[in-house]
Amino acid sequence: MVARVRTQLRRKHYIEQLRSSVHTGLELAVTDQLTGIYNRRYLYTHLSSLLQHRKEGQSISVLLLDVDHFKPINDTHGHDVGDIVLKELSRRLVNNVRGVDVACRYGGEEFVFLMPEADSELAAKVAERLRNDIEREPFTLAGTELPSTVSIGVSTSWEEDTPDTLLKRADEALYEAKENGRNQVVVASDLQTKKPPEETASENTLKQNII
Ligand code: GH3
Ligand code: MG
Ligand code: MG
Repeated sequence: MVARVRTQLRRKHYIEQLRSSVHTGLELAVTDQLTGIYNRRYLYTHLSSLLQHRKEGQSISVLLLDVDHFKPINDTHGHDVGDIVLKELSRRLVNNVRGVDVACRYGGEEFVFLMPEADSELAAKVAERLRNDIEREPFTLAGTELPSTVSIGVSTSWEEDTPDTLLKRADEALYEAKENGRNQVVVASDLQTKKPPEETASENTLKQNII
């Protein structure tokens, strides 16, 4: 009798351990090891599902953040200090997450702030607040201040978007923010309207006919 109870207890303990290790495994699969926030894999899965199941009129926005001049931080202070900056930045992003928003590490010193219920205007506002918060409060390590800024590209979903197309527009906007001097927010839709409209073939023919 005692032996049977002991066997059952051992079995119960084994099952609990198994359950907990499956849970840890699942958590690791979607979490970035350094920062503890969601990873790129989670971002793609979540974004893809959001785009597929979104309601009519629902705007999904992404903010792609890249730390400005991050390489010199590593080069001057060491990789470990760079890691601390990345962790602190993640903490600040998570502190800004509200409701359905999600903060992810996209890779290296790039982060994505995903806003499933935000149009371009709201996303731009949040991006500007994040950029400003990071600029205002320099990272402090052992009494040394490491002023850091971020550049942010913002894009908002179109009907036919996939995660790749939506993130590509955010990346183009981010590229523009870097080109324009960094420490700023660029919204992808503003980029499109700034470009001169291309003349279509039929417009050209029409012009030629008039001349
Ligand atoms: P820019 O303003 O154009 O963004 O310049 P940058 O120096 O930030 O960009 P660059 O792409 O030249 O450098 C990114 C650096 O980020 C290079 C790479 O070594 C570093 N990096 C990537 N992942 C990690 C990480 O996990 N930890 C640390 N400490 N550094 C990392
Ligand atoms: Mg980068
Ligand atoms: Mg950078």
